[in-house]
Amino acid sequence: MPYSGRINVTIGETQLKEVEYFGEAIYSPVRRGKTGWGMAIEVPAVIEMIRLVDEGKTSADRLVRLLESVAENIRTDYGEDEEGETPWGADCPSEGCTVCDGAKEEFAALAARTHVERQRFQDPDNYPYVRGKHTLHRAACSEAQRGIGSRSPDWTRNEAQDLRSFAHEHVTNSGWATHMTMLTPEDVAQWIATRTGPRGGAQYKLCKICRPSIPQART
Ligand SMILES: [Zn+2]
Ligand SMILES: [Zn+2]
Repeated sequence: MPYSGRINVTIGETQLKEVEYFGEAIYSPVRRGKTGWGMAIEVPAVIEMIRLVDEGKTSADRLVRLLESVAENIRTDYGEDEEGETPWGADCPSEGCTVCDGAKEEFAALAARTHVERQRFQDPDNYPYVRGKHTLHRAACSEAQRGIGSRSPDWTRNEAQDLRSFAHEHVTNSGWATHMTMLTPEDVAQWIATRTGPRGGAQYKLCKICRPSIPQART
């Protein structure tokens, strides 16, 4: 799972406070296997570090080793090494990964479905409702917007990276995957019908924020 945090980094007599880092989030296949792969720190801190080298407060070689040890420490803190020494990115070779290849079809199907849901989200006249697993919302509900994810149907983060975290860690990031479904009034009536018991017991919930009204089924 992606993680992030802040660390103080000391270079010579300068302390860079609260340098933001995050890991398990970016995977350029080009540098797979190198120390620090999959981890990032904030650019202004990097610029500051390079400036300190330029001013002779430390050497480039020392800075490299510092960054490498920072990366290793963070990784150890997050328990990446629980099962012994695993090289950076060794679980997924840049090409021909059987795990990634095996998940490709399912990934593509989910991404395609998400694309459709987001397009429908742009069309509230025809799709005025959204449902999660159990709860019905109006399309205009803030919960629905969060659930559907990006407003742009074409928005994508980084396909190779998303596939990788999906295949290896079963992460369905809201950047590319939605678990909500847009509904027409007819869809809602049908869904409600399948979720209403023979004695009228409701196996669904209506969102308390947007309070959708249930459309009547046409017969
Ligand atoms: Zn892989
Ligand atoms: Zn709602």
